[in-house]
Amino acid sequence: MYDTIECPDWFAQWVVSYGRAFGISAELTDTMLRIWWPAFHMARFVEADFTRALPALVGAENPPNWPREHLGAVNRALRAAKDQRTRRAPEPSGSGRPEARCAWCGGDGWVSVPHPKYLANGEWVAPHPTVTPACTRCDRGERSYQAHCETAAAERRPGPMTIDQYEKLVGTAWAEIVARHEQAQRLMARAVSATDGIDRTPNLTRLANAFAMPK
Ligand SMILES: [Zn+2]
Repeated sequence: MYDTIECPDWFAQWVVSYGRAFGISAELTDTMLRIWWPAFHMARFVEADFTRALPALVGAENPPNWPREHLGAVNRALRAAKDQRTRRAPEPSGSGRPEARCAWCGGDGWVSVPHPKYLANGEWVAPHPTVTPACTRCDRGERSYQAHCETAAAERRPGPMTIDQYEKLVGTAWAEIVARHEQAQRLMARAVSATDGIDRTPNLTRLANAFAMPK
């Protein structure tokens, strides 16, 4: 099912330019077009990110030689370009929660959702922090929520936010955004493993260039 995502012409062109700059093998080229592209696509890198990334890659102090180095280097350059585009400073925080019965809270009364400040343009932005509003969509969640509200009222502080209030704030698309984020991660993991499988000999063209044209 992954392979049905065809890469656009501009990406094919970019791969040609990349191949010229780094002298990559036909096999790696093919992997880039078929397997890297869906991962990049799901990670929501856009043409402008690739355009910005290429000179950064070519000018890098330690250019990639091995297939797996290529993917790592391209990913880093793309992420930097995307960060610049979306202007988001990364900030560590948040936690995940296990899932079980209730489709929303998994039975523990709290729903793990993207932090509202990290939802931008239909995307959950790195480092993907979460918040946990109370689930009011199952009995267990509702009971737990009421108990927390009573405690909070006794202590004269506001009760927890509910999943309904959260959705009023950010909209209902968050679940789809999370699913897309997880799919993007799976695709990138697949791109990494496919690239690791490529011939592990160093890129001789690149090495020859390095000797011929010392910096
Ligand atoms: Zn629930």
